[in-house]
Amino acid sequence: MPRPKHCRRICGMPARTYFKPAGVPMSALEEVVLELDEMEALRLADLEGFYHEEAAERMKVSRPTFGRIIETARRKVAEALVAGKALRIEGGAVAMEILKVVRVFRCSDCSHSWELPYGGGRPAECPACKSRNIHRAEEDRGPRFGGRGGPGMGRGGRGFGRGCPRS
Ligand SMILES: [Zn+2]
Repeated sequence: MPRPKHCRRICGMPARTYFKPAGVPMSALEEVVLELDEMEALRLADLEGFYHEEAAERMKVSRPTFGRIIETARRKVAEALVAGKALRIEGGAVAMEILKVVRVFRCSDCSHSWELPYGGGRPAECPACKSRNIHRAEEDRGPRFGGRGGPGMGRGGRGFGRGCPRS
């Protein structure tokens, strides 16, 4: 059994999680799976231009570990490009940097609960019964991912990957 990986910190889900060469039917495609921590390493080092040391710090991993992650990531992307394979981005032992993106409110009068994104003001009244007797519910959830979530992203948790200790 592989040693459980320490959770790596990532800043969010990529906008797109599947890339395929144009004009090739899916059935004829081979896939390369790029894990979310590898994607984050590419983003930090190759897009944002961070030195490995700082990128490692941001992902909460050691510098040698970051070096291995980025090396694997680059090899996978190169393999997809050179060999014309599809690239699926999912999984990995990751913890989201932004743990709460949705606030949950509940009405004390009618028990209606609803969600609002962070960044807005506090709602004035219950959208169902117009009561002003509302409060923040405790069950704030982490980001929810549309479509295929990676196997590493647990459902109903706070964005922690499966097997990530909540240390
Ligand atoms: Zn209400």
